[in-house]
Amino acid sequence: MKIALVGNQNSGKTLLFNHLTGLNQKVGNWAGVTVERKEGTIKKTDISVIDLPGVYSLSPYTAEEEISRNFIVTEDPDVLVNIIDSTSIERSLYLTTQLLELGKKVIVVLNMEDILKKRGYTINIPELSELLQTTVISISALKKTGITHLIDIIKHQKFHEYVEKEIYSKDIESLIDFISIRLPNELKEKRFAAVKIIERDERYGQYLTSEIEEKIKEIETKYDDYSEAVIANQRYEFIEELRDKCVIKTYKKSITEKIDKVILNKWAAIPIFIAIMATIYFLSVGVVGGLTVNLVDTFFNGTDAGIDVTMLGITIGNIPSTFEGIGPMLANAILDAGGSPWAASLVADGVIAGFGALCNFIPQLIILFTCLSLLETVGYMSRITFLFDRFFKKIGMSGKSLVPFIVGAGCSVPGVMAARTVENKEEHKLTVTLTPFMPCSAKLPIISLIAGSFFGAYGWLISLSMYIMAIFVIILSGFILNKFFIKNKSTSYINELPEYHAPSGSYIIKDVAEKAWSFMKRAGTIIILCSVVVWFFSSFTWTFQFVDNEIVYIEDSMLAGIGNGIAWFFYPMLGFNYSWGASVSAIQGLVAKEAVVSSMVTIAHVGGEDAIFASSVFAFFNPITAFAFMTFNLFSAPCFGAIAAMKKEFGNAKDMWKAILFQTGFAWVIATIIGMFGPLMG
Ligand code: GDP
Ligand code: MG
Repeated sequence: MKIALVGNQNSGKTLLFNHLTGLNQKVGNWAGVTVERKEGTIKKTDISVIDLPGVYSLSPYTAEEEISRNFIVTEDPDVLVNIIDSTSIERSLYLTTQLLELGKKVIVVLNMEDILKKRGYTINIPELSELLQTTVISISALKKTGITHLIDIIKHQKFHEYVEKEIYSKDIESLIDFISIRLPNELKEKRFAAVKIIERDERYGQYLTSEIEEKIKEIETKYDDYSEAVIANQRYEFIEELRDKCVIKTYKKSITEKIDKVILNKWAAIPIFIAIMATIYFLSVGVVGGLTVNLVDTFFNGTDAGIDVTMLGITIGNIPSTFEGIGPMLANAILDAGGSPWAASLVADGVIAGFGALCNFIPQLIILFTCLSLLETVGYMSRITFLFDRFFKKIGMSGKSLVPFIVGAGCSVPGVMAARTVENKEEHKLTVTLTPFMPCSAKLPIISLIAGSFFGAYGWLISLSMYIMAIFVIILSGFILNKFFIKNKSTSYINELPEYHAPSGSYIIKDVAEKAWSFMKRAGTIIILCSVVVWFFSSFTWTFQFVDNEIVYIEDSMLAGIGNGIAWFFYPMLGFNYSWGASVSAIQGLVAKEAVVSSMVTIAHVGGEDAIFASSVFAFFNPITAFAFMTFNLFSAPCFGAIAAMKKEFGNAKDMWKAILFQTGFAWVIATIIGMFGPLMG
């Protein structure tokens, strides 16, 4: 027995052929042409199989079509196995309608059932078999389903006998009959030939008598079209009918798709994302942060002015309190026990103040982590990374870099740690380097102090401009780094999204606890250590006299000396008439960014006047230099905690130094541009 595999290109013929024949294959060329001829036998049988070239019809337009038709007509295979890509049956069945006219047994094999299923369709096989009057089965050549069934049908000849299937209108069908009876007996493919004659196919030109020609003309006049087009149209009408009757959409839209339709909507996606993030920041930084920062600060450092309740940087109330604070209490205890003033100061201003600076952020970070973890477990985060993936790829990062940036807006330490999910090495490096550019919540006091003091009613605009500037700086420096330093060639895009899930409480608790703890550990040790170091430099003179602000003043401290030593660094942005205090507070910012503000306040206080909090900064700046200084502090090297996290992420100190140098250099350039050219615009 001899069977031929016929079908469109890429319908899976060769794959099926290989499954059917195993190793029993011969490959050569068709006589006279360089089109591949593959032949083999079905395993453990003597049934030979020919893999015909891929064709869309049996019209004589291409060599492949000619080979296929000649093979079928002259070599007379017993069965035609018509492979169809079932995901596009309309295109595929055109050939089928021609094959069914050849007078041969046809098995219609609907391939790629795996893809069809995935797309949510099924084909009614009994119905299709009934309408085509032939055997129809469904397989997947790739997943190897249905292939034994096909072999069984072939081996045991369980296929339909040939039945003449009429698919055209009555007038054409009767013309086919009219032609068929006039064809010679040795011509086996009578119906096929009759149709081809109507189409004026030259291969059957010898049978086109004037009698038949007249009838064809009648058809053409009736339909006002070429006969070939009339035939083609009627084939398509038949195929459309098959499709409407047999292709069933089984698929119900999943909940995930319904949600994604809104959340990943072209226009709504970004506004929804911004709204969700704004809510999270409002909750963590605005509401919780506003309530807890001063509370925690009071607990450690004491107050006699009451506890300010703030929301988004604006004071909305004051809780009267005279709590002395853990730090001062310990300091007094040390003094009472006969300890020296510097020991008391070390505990209160060094250790406890540093520890307090860290704890200030814990409550709001826990809220932030919880919200982000929630978004992650339900599957929203992966959509966001997907949404921004293409954009981030342009500046050498990945959509996954967005999470570190979002977390970094709370605190750079967990932000830098979150970069771990970015697998590609270069993308990871870039993400770690750029995350500290996000204005973390500790930078908010700097922004609100300077924006509030110098820009009054426009303060909120200045605050907003800082965030916009941060985004701009990240894009610009990502572009620069990617272009010149960390070249990333990866182009693998995220394209599979997980289903939405109900949030898992235990996962969130574990995740938040782990992140909070690792923040405490890493930032804790380094912040306390460094705050002790800065305390040391600000509390002693070069001759190791203790700064008590009564006999020895902070102007004589080592820190002031260092401040004066590096003052040149700030001249371009701040001008020559500035005091050493700004550079000192910038150094203090390395411990914790909010220390920039408290440091300026302390230094201004020490300067003599009993300046109130806000007005103290007037000692240092005018509006433009204030803006420049704020910019520098926002974008220069992050705090020691974040630097430590960066070192850990890079895995070496060299990359860490490079990153710090880049950040500080970049910040300096921007701040200097503002400081030098700002006055020209004003
Ligand atoms: P031919 O041009 O008809 O010989 O088609 P091939 O056998 O070369 O297959 C064309 C492509 O379709 C290949 O990439 C196959 O892996 C793929 N393919 C074939 N059958 C299936 C199937 O059942 N499911 C899927 N998913 N892919 C298939
Ligand atoms: Mg092939």
